[in-house]
Amino acid sequence: MITLTEAIEEIIRECEICNIGMVDAENMPYTLPFNFGFEWDTVYLHSAPTGRKIEILRANPNVCISFSTAHRLYHQSESVACSYGMKYKSVLIKGRVEFVEDYDEKVRILNIIMKQYTGRDEYSYNAPAVNNVAVMKVIASSVEAKAFGY
Ligand SMILES: Cc1cc2nc3c(=O)[nH]c(=O)nc-3n(C[C@H](O)[C@H](O)[C@H](O)COP(=O)(O)OP(=O)(O)OC[C@H]3O[C@@H](n4cnc5c(N)ncnc54)[C@H](O)[C@@H]3O)c2cc1C
Repeated sequence: MITLTEAIEEIIRECEICNIGMVDAENMPYTLPFNFGFEWDTVYLHSAPTGRKIEILRANPNVCISFSTAHRLYHQSESVACSYGMKYKSVLIKGRVEFVEDYDEKVRILNIIMKQYTGRDEYSYNAPAVNNVAVMKVIASSVEAKAFGY
């Protein structure tokens, strides 16, 4: 199990979204923005149960997830293009998507995703909605972090 440092967790928690990179059956990249939840070494996702990404992920669960935050444009000289840059903090997590089927585990994960955005611990859910939503987890097999300009 990978243990993330507090600094890496802080970067992830500050992010509004993540971008999930996957590889389709034609070996072409497909990248989508996602809301997410996060706990220990695991990223949680949810989605409609059908669509292109679901087909791709069921065929090839390997993903690279990128998070970035604290984006700040800076410059040394206002009129010199090459003196501009972007400060950032970012994290890359690689792993495999697992689809979660257990009802109670789905609810637990949906609460983690909701908490990332609202700070609130528990919500009520109706059973058809929980049954119909696809819930996924990605246990990190590798984690890299980078801060630029900080
Ligand atoms: C800020 C943000 C947060 C999001 N959070 C989630 C989330 O938590 N869960 C979730 O399931 N989805 C989320 N989405 C939407 C997600 O990025 C996809 O658009 C959506 O899941 C549909 O993907 P799909 O592969 O099923 O596309 P399909 O419905 O199968 O779409 C068919 C085609 O539409 C195109 N397409 C799909 N999505 C996009 C897109 N975002 N932009 C441009 N073209 C596109 C693709 O070329 C695809 O081949 C979020 C989007 C944004 C912008």
